[in-house]
Amino acid sequence: MARRIGPVCRLCRREGQKLFLKGARCLSSKCAFERRGFVPGQHGQSLKSRRRKSSDYLLQLREKQKMRRIYGVLEAQFRRYFREALRRRGVTGAELLILLERRLDNVLYRMGFAPSRAAARQMVTHAHFTVNGHPVNIPSYLVKPNDVIAVRESSRRLTQFKELAAERDISYAPPAWLQADRATLTGRVLALPKREDIDVPVNEQLVVEYYSR
Ligand code: SF4
Repeated sequence: MARRIGPVCRLCRREGQKLFLKGARCLSSKCAFERRGFVPGQHGQSLKSRRRKSSDYLLQLREKQKMRRIYGVLEAQFRRYFREALRRRGVTGAELLILLERRLDNVLYRMGFAPSRAAARQMVTHAHFTVNGHPVNIPSYLVKPNDVIAVRESSRRLTQFKELAAERDISYAPPAWLQADRATLTGRVLALPKREDIDVPVNEQLVVEYYSR
């Protein structure tokens, strides 16, 4: 279960937009993209003022990297998702997004049980969640309709989950394909997501073109 380590705000700066990888910090004035919205590195600021040559390949590459970084998936695993999406009957780009969206770490983030996908991933690897009553510690686990996800009994006494259960902010609503109840720390997958349920700012067609070269 390899994962990328290292500064994540650089990824937003590299992609030229906020990818919301750090939870509450992304909405605060501490956001690195708000303060230094140019490409990271020694020549980042000079690149900002210079006109970069654009090409189809560059656009496709950047879109692929953006999608991969939003979901926190390394290249080899991302390629596997793409091959799986190709095998499916639907539109490949949409199928790719649907596969990524069904990852357990993403589902916990969407349910509001974690402030970011990275935080959700760590919670899963620490075995704080069960799916249909069984502990699951694999962030890439793909959920199915009617799966019931819950915080493990032994983890409920942890401060982070006590605070989550006591949270009175109900402004966050999960997407239509998920149901979540913070008070009981449980959630249910109502259906598989559709493309229109997925609000990530990517053009999946460019990703398909990248891998179809
Ligand atoms: Fe990106 Fe969030 Fe870092 Fe801002 S704080 S640069 S949105 S990860």
